[in-house]
Amino acid sequence: MDKISVVVPCYNEEESIEIFYKETLKILKQMKNIHYEFLFINDGSTDKTLEIFKKLHKKDKQVRYISFSRNFGKEAAMLAGFEHASGDYITTMDVDLQDPPELLTTMYQDLKSGKYDCVATRSKSRKSYSPLRKFLTKCFYKIINKMSDVEIVDGARDFRLMTKKMVNSILSMREVNRFSKGIFGYVGFRTKWIEYEDRDRVAGNSKWSLWKLGKYAIEGIIAFSTKPLVYSVFIGLFFCFLAFLFIVVIIVRTLLFSDPVQGWPSLVCIILFVSGIQLFCTGIIGVYLSKIYLETKSRPIYIIAETDEDE
Ligand code: UDP
Ligand code: MG
Repeated sequence: MDKISVVVPCYNEEESIEIFYKETLKILKQMKNIHYEFLFINDGSTDKTLEIFKKLHKKDKQVRYISFSRNFGKEAAMLAGFEHASGDYITTMDVDLQDPPELLTTMYQDLKSGKYDCVATRSKSRKSYSPLRKFLTKCFYKIINKMSDVEIVDGARDFRLMTKKMVNSILSMREVNRFSKGIFGYVGFRTKWIEYEDRDRVAGNSKWSLWKLGKYAIEGIIAFSTKPLVYSVFIGLFFCFLAFLFIVVIIVRTLLFSDPVQGWPSLVCIILFVSGIQLFCTGIIGVYLSKIYLETKSRPIYIIAETDEDE
């Protein structure tokens, strides 16, 4: 019998957990010759999330949980889940039922056929997003796919069912700054994509503000592309060329009209503009440097405060 591990990161999700458990369990029970385990991760919630995990674990020993010492983010929660999952097939799902559990049946069949190592999902329309978030997300995928060598599929969700082999290769990537959408692409493997219409959350609110998403997008670009550094070299060269042109123009103008004093305001503008560009490019280098700094420290990506095994 195969075992499916369902990894579920949760951050202040007291309203959704039980609904999610019930719905997903129903599907897992319908699947034949399957063992299952739920691996809930409490990502530093301040509500009753952990208590609900404990309650479910009492009722069903196939419900396991890991509780972090504080909020480390969804990436860290997924990693912890992958590391502790014991199944032959591992999936990660949001607890808000935006990832339809009924897809698990066909996903499992696809993997079982031996043709694929991973069945991944992407949302068709992003119906649940605000127009601004929709627009910014589209721009992000355009930019990151231009910059990165790894394909980052537009609209890809984290919801996917993978073989243990693929998960092990994901775990072999030990980077601290984790950007799963890129990591999934980087490890490769034979992936089948299925699309579905976006759904609204079953309860609670999205944990992502536009600010958090913006930061996440920059992390993604930095983690999977060094092109911004190359671009800053070209910006530098372009401005050197421009400066050279200006020098020629000024020399010729002074020789012809002998008017060296004119142009002070434009000079100030040019100095401000060019020093802005310089700071911008130094900033790009700084961002990469800060990532190197954090990687070299190799701090733990998450810290576990307690698990079901402590009980
Ligand atoms: N989540 C998490 N840690 C965080 C933020 C979110 O574990 O810091 C979990 C959250 O509980 C949910 C999943 O990640 O199960 C997706 O979050 P959300 O639904 O807020 O994101 P959205 O669907 O809006 O992209
Ligand atoms: Mg969600």
